[in-house]
Amino acid sequence: MTANLTKQIDFDAIILGGGACGLMCAVQAGFLGKRVLVLEKNSQPGAKILISGGGRCNYTNLYASPQQFISGNEHFCKSALAQWTVDDTIDFFETYGIKGQEKTLGQLFPVSNKAKDIVNVFTSLCADMAQEIWCDADVKDIEQTENGFTILADIAGRKRALFAIKVVIASGGLPIPKMGATDFGLRMARKFGLKINDTAPALVPLTITGKEQPWYEQLSGNSIFCRVWNEKISFEENILFTHWGLSGPAVLQISSYWKPGEWLYIDLLPKQNIGELIQQEREENGKKTLLNFLAGLYPRKFAEALSSHLPVEKNLASLSKPDMEKIAGLIHEFKVKPAGDKGYDKAEVMRGGVSTDALSSKTLEAKKVPGLYFGGECVDVTGWLGGYNFQWAWASGFVIAQSL
Ligand SMILES: Cc1cc2nc3c(=O)[nH]c(=O)nc-3n(C[C@H](O)[C@H](O)[C@H](O)COP(=O)(O)OP(=O)(O)OC[C@H]3O[C@@H](n4cnc5c(N)ncnc54)[C@H](O)[C@@H]3O)c2cc1C
Repeated sequence: MTANLTKQIDFDAIILGGGACGLMCAVQAGFLGKRVLVLEKNSQPGAKILISGGGRCNYTNLYASPQQFISGNEHFCKSALAQWTVDDTIDFFETYGIKGQEKTLGQLFPVSNKAKDIVNVFTSLCADMAQEIWCDADVKDIEQTENGFTILADIAGRKRALFAIKVVIASGGLPIPKMGATDFGLRMARKFGLKINDTAPALVPLTITGKEQPWYEQLSGNSIFCRVWNEKISFEENILFTHWGLSGPAVLQISSYWKPGEWLYIDLLPKQNIGELIQQEREENGKKTLLNFLAGLYPRKFAEALSSHLPVEKNLASLSKPDMEKIAGLIHEFKVKPAGDKGYDKAEVMRGGVSTDALSSKTLEAKKVPGLYFGGECVDVTGWLGGYNFQWAWASGFVIAQSL
């Protein structure tokens, strides 16, 4: 690479990645009077913020606590989440004109329903404080020098080498490559000898193949309130049945705790007991068919699709004990072994990443490489669906800024 080495003594740090973590870090550093340069590969910053929550951005969760984060070290996120709390997120955005509204389960969205408003807070603050954001800046490599780092990047089509005393890697995870996602953070961690915990798509739909698939095609289009569980955890939310498998919030949640080859269990009627319901109905209306009874609990198409597994033409009065066991088994403990997941094209986050063992939990500085920081999704801290991942991104950006 031919490049001009420029000494940017006027920047206290260079932040690689202008997403949620990098932008928060730039703004917080500005509040402390530190000058930073953000290098962003895309032509505009905050691409994932803009598409998040269906373009509305679920920017935090009122109930966020360390329990909703998955990591090789479950204690690691505690320090950052305590230094920058959910109230800090709410106050910060309110200060700059964004009021939140809770949609469901503590999920906070801007009242305007516009993710763009969130990005504008950061870009306006960066402009006011003269924090620079250079877009179309694809960072290729980092080299350690005697007193800092050289960053090699293609900036607006030109190869450049920039000098930085401190470097923040906030380049995100692997999901949605077509939006600029790269393995840059993982590659740099490896280069500097930091451990990586296995990565995989998370908050991702799960696929069904083989002889079960035609049946899922019949169930397709139905969204049913369920409890889904495995030996690690359980979630109660909707499941969306599709022609290729399972999606919807309950499945996205459990996907972060699922590995290929493992079974999942679904209770299709979590708040009630199907045996008791049939018993009650049978006393009043024994001639009702099981199909009509199930169509009172679920969309008719869904009830009809259950016919290949249940004696739906029988009337309730004639159901035998084995029939009742079969019904209870299917409704309350529906077993499914997904074939796989929809991959990084459809995942909302990456699980795994730069091992927390390699970083200080207080500052997110690499223990072995002073001056090098990792924040946001490239670190092995993965939140549940519902605003938790942004809470981690804001918190990690904040704590890094404190020590730049
Ligand atoms: C469809 C979708 C919806 C989501 N909705 C929500 C939601 O509503 N609530 C929630 O909490 N979370 C949501 N998430 C997750 C959330 O977007 C991420 O957890 C969060 O953006 C991570 O922040 P980050 O700063 O680590 O990474 P990012 O926001 O991904 O930012 C990383 C930036 O680095 C840039 N970059 C990468 N490599 C380079 C390079 N080599 N050189 C220069 N720049 C580079 C990228 O272009 C990107 O802009 C959603 C994710 C997706 C995919």
